[in-house]
Amino acid sequence: MDYDVVIVGGSLAGSAAATLYGRAGLRVAVVEKQPDPLAYKTTCNHFILASSVPTLERLGLTEKIEEAGGVPNSIAVWSRYGWIHAEPPADYPYPVTGYNITRRRLDPMVRKLAAGTDGVDLMLGHTATGLDWDRGRVAAVQVRDRHGVEHTLSARLVVAADGRYSKLAQMAGITTRTRPHERFYYWAYFRGVELDTPASSQLWFREPDVVYTFGNEDGLTVLTVLAGKDRLPEFKADLDGAFMRSFENLPRGPRLDHAERVSKIMGKLDLTNLRRRPAAKGMALIGDAALASDPLWGVGCGWAFQSAEWLVDATADTLRRRADPAPALRRYRRTHRRRLAGHDFLICDYSRLRGFNPVERLVFAAAVHDPATALHFHAFGTRSIGASRFLAPAPLARAAWVLATRRPRATTKPAGLRDAARAPRPPAPGDAARRG
Ligand SMILES: Cc1cc2nc3c(=O)[nH]c(=O)nc-3n(C[C@H](O)[C@H](O)[C@H](O)COP(=O)(O)OP(=O)(O)OC[C@H]3O[C@@H](n4cnc5c(N)ncnc54)[C@H](O)[C@@H]3O)c2cc1C
Repeated sequence: MDYDVVIVGGSLAGSAAATLYGRAGLRVAVVEKQPDPLAYKTTCNHFILASSVPTLERLGLTEKIEEAGGVPNSIAVWSRYGWIHAEPPADYPYPVTGYNITRRRLDPMVRKLAAGTDGVDLMLGHTATGLDWDRGRVAAVQVRDRHGVEHTLSARLVVAADGRYSKLAQMAGITTRTRPHERFYYWAYFRGVELDTPASSQLWFREPDVVYTFGNEDGLTVLTVLAGKDRLPEFKADLDGAFMRSFENLPRGPRLDHAERVSKIMGKLDLTNLRRRPAAKGMALIGDAALASDPLWGVGCGWAFQSAEWLVDATADTLRRRADPAPALRRYRRTHRRRLAGHDFLICDYSRLRGFNPVERLVFAAAVHDPATALHFHAFGTRSIGASRFLAPAPLARAAWVLATRRPRATTKPAGLRDAARAPRPPAPGDAARRG
């Protein structure tokens, strides 16, 4: 029961980290409380970021995702300014699409990859219940198996990959920082949805509410409503009606006449943004355990894979040499902050249920008319560039110039989306009540 690395949580982040540590020649235990190898997370809308594709490729997952029917997730975004649908050229320096694939397919796939990696022990049906300490750092994890038997797993590095409510962080006394989230989520799965844009994923910013449709494998489409908490009574009173009305009168909205709802309508009412130091008390945190920000932007799965990769790249060599992991953990923490802190700041800010700020108004409006601004919007939305490059003076100056000089002609919009760009904002249920 002596390992190089013990990872608690065998979902996306934990299984990815275990696979990469195992390939680096380390001995790894993955502690996962779910006993079923086919278990999967149900509170997810399955949009995987394009920026995580290099990590998926390194893991060897892209082919498996495609074999399982995963859908490349091209995106069309509607706001009151019109449609944005970037069309990256052949020499575009970033991944063009990620994937939409349900967690029902993805989670067992990723777990199986870890279980099949030399050096990895996947311990299903084991729950982490406590921590042991050595000179101020976490040195071992106490686990209970499904028969109630207790074990202690000692490690030179313990990794928390146990999700947004991380029990490990709590047991280690690592502070959780929160930022408010003023929307609630409802979503459901449909078959036979007809879409009216060239993209597999559509988002409508109805300000402040947002709705989206994401096409997945096997002809499944997930329809999601994110509405301000002031509308919760309306949804509680008539969930079916309020949910379905949210998809009416959308410019180029999904056609549901022949569609069949194949799940109940599911909800998540509290999505408080959570973050923790990605390394503290000698322990590392990856995936949602380190950062769980608003799912509106579809970032959590991609960042779960990427943070696992950053951690392994920062620490594997040190662990192999049996050197002190503290400097390597500091490197990981810096990478995590550099890559994600700016994104997280802007994401949390928008989850306060505000309208677009001046910069967003500028970029959303210019990207409708200008392919270069649309590409800039795409690179940021897929998280291939960070907040500082998104907000750099040159692209914002270009956006301002586009609006000043080109808007009336509107010649550069993708032809298929041109009419919808002029459609007025449809009335949202509850608008009148809000104005009143
Ligand atoms: C409504 C909603 C919609 C979302 N939609 C998207 C989306 O479209 N795209 C996207 O990228 N992200 C989305 N997300 C976020 C995404 O689901 C998470 O970011 C992602 O699952 C994080 O992966 P993870 O491996 O860090 O944690 P999780 O997937 O949460 O896994 C944690 C694992 O730890 C295990 N565990 C917990 N405690 C213990 C313990 N004590 N002992 C042993 N095991 C334990 C759990 O069983 C679980 O397997 C959404 C989230 C929500 C809430």
